[in-house]
Amino acid sequence: MKISAVKGMNDILPEQIGTQRPISAWQRLENACRVRFDLYGYREVRTPVVEETRLFARSIGESTDIVGKEMYTFSDRKGKKLLSLRPEGTAGVVRAFVQHSVHTRDPITKWWYGGPMYRYERVQAGRYRQFHQIGAEAIGVAEPAMDAELLVMLDRLLRDDLRISPLKLLVNSLGDRADRTAYVDLLKSYLKKHLDSLCEDCRRRYEQNPLRALDCKVPDCQPVLDEAPQIGESLSEPARRHFEKVLALLGEMDIELEVRPRLVRGLDYYNRTCFEFVAGGLGAHDTVCAGGRYDDLVGSLGGPRLPAIGFAMGVERLVMLLPEDPNLEPEGPRVFFVYVGEESLETCFRLMEEMRESGVSAEMDFRGGSVKSQMRRADKKGARFAIVIGETEIATRRVSLKELWREKARDEETISFDLLVDSVKKRLLMNG
Ligand code: ATP
Ligand code: MG
Repeated sequence: MKISAVKGMNDILPEQIGTQRPISAWQRLENACRVRFDLYGYREVRTPVVEETRLFARSIGESTDIVGKEMYTFSDRKGKKLLSLRPEGTAGVVRAFVQHSVHTRDPITKWWYGGPMYRYERVQAGRYRQFHQIGAEAIGVAEPAMDAELLVMLDRLLRDDLRISPLKLLVNSLGDRADRTAYVDLLKSYLKKHLDSLCEDCRRRYEQNPLRALDCKVPDCQPVLDEAPQIGESLSEPARRHFEKVLALLGEMDIELEVRPRLVRGLDYYNRTCFEFVAGGLGAHDTVCAGGRYDDLVGSLGGPRLPAIGFAMGVERLVMLLPEDPNLEPEGPRVFFVYVGEESLETCFRLMEEMRESGVSAEMDFRGGSVKSQMRRADKKGARFAIVIGETEIATRRVSLKELWREKARDEETISFDLLVDSVKKRLLMNG
C-alpha cells in the first residue's frame, strides 16, 4: 500500500531546500531573518501548532475566509474542546504574550516566530494547505516610529539581505475603528449602486466583509473598485498624522514605497498602517510579506490594552525568488574516494574521515563496483576531486588527485597520504 502526503501539504525535499553548500535557500532565508531580527531586538518565540478554535475566531474574525472556511478544526479526544491547526501566527503569539503576562517584565516586547501554518485553500502554485511563515510582532508601542522601524527592517531584509527583485512596498492606512466603521458605511452605499457590475465574490463580500471587496482581483470589478471612495478620506486627524509620520520617517531612510489607497488586509484585527511587499515573477500570488498595526487585539484577547504591529512572510514564495548566492558552492562533496578491494576500503574510510575532521567534505560509495562506475558516481555527485586508492597507492602510500571539474585531467603529481589533507585544502584555496 502506497500512501501519499495530503493534498496541498508538501514534502520539502533536499533539492527544494536548495542546491548550494554549506547553506541552501531555505536555510539562507532563515539565517538572514535571524540575523536581521536580532539587529532590531526581536527574540524568537515558539508557540504550539494547535490552539483552541475560539482563539482564531476571536482574533482573526468570524467573517473572514480563514475562520469561515479555511481552518482545520477538530475536537480533542474527550470532545470537550474545539481545536484548530493554526492558520497564521499572530493569534498564538499574542495568546502566549497575554498568558505569560510578558508585559509585566518588559513594557516593549519584540518577538519573531517561524513555522508551518494550515489553511484549507484551493491548491495552486504558491498556495498550499500547509505552508510556512516567518513573522514578527512588536507589542507595546503606538508611535509611528515603530511602524517605520519595522518597515525599514523588512525592506533591508528582503532587498539587501535576500536580494528579492523586483520588489515593491505598498502601504495604506486603515484608520481607527471609528474611521473604519464610517468608511464601511460609505463603501457599502457605493457598492450597493454597482452590485450588478461586481463578481459573485464581491457581492458576498458586500454583505459580510465589504472592505475585502477592495482586494478583488477580478478584472471586470476593477473599474467600479477604482472609483470607490477611499479610506484615506475617512481618516481621523490622529490617524492621518500617524500615517504621515510613518511616511516621513520612511522617506528619511530613502525607503521606496507606493501608497495604495485600496490596500486592505483580510483579517479583522488590523487598524492604521497596513502594508504588503509584492514581488514580481510569481504570477497571481506575488505578495511575499504582509502585515500591519493591530492596536486592539491584545486587549480583546484578555490582555492589557497594548498597541501592536506585526507581519508575516510566506517562506515558500520567498524561497522561489531567492537568487543563487555566487559566494556559495554547488552541492556535492569536495573529495570522492574510489576504492578497489577490502584493504583499500579501510584506507579510504580512514582518509575520508581525516578530510572531514579537517573541514573538507568527503564521500565514497561503499557499494564499490568498478573504478569507472565509482568515478561516474563521483561526477554525478558533483565532487571536486576524486582519489582512487588501489594496490599501488597502498604500497607507495601516495595518491594522485584527479580534478573532476577540469575538461581534461592534467597529469597529476602524486601526493603522500600524510600531505593529502593539506594539499586538498591548498588547492581549494588557490582555485576557489
Ligand atoms: P493572499 O492574499 O495571498 O491569500 P493572505 O492575505 O491570505 O494572502 P496572510 O494571511 O497575510 O495572507 O499571510 C502572509 C503571507 O503568507 C502571504 O503574503 C503569503 O506570502 C503567505 N501565504 C498565505 N497563504 C498562503 C498559502 N496558502 N500558501 C502559501 N503561502 C501563503
Ligand atoms: Mg488568503
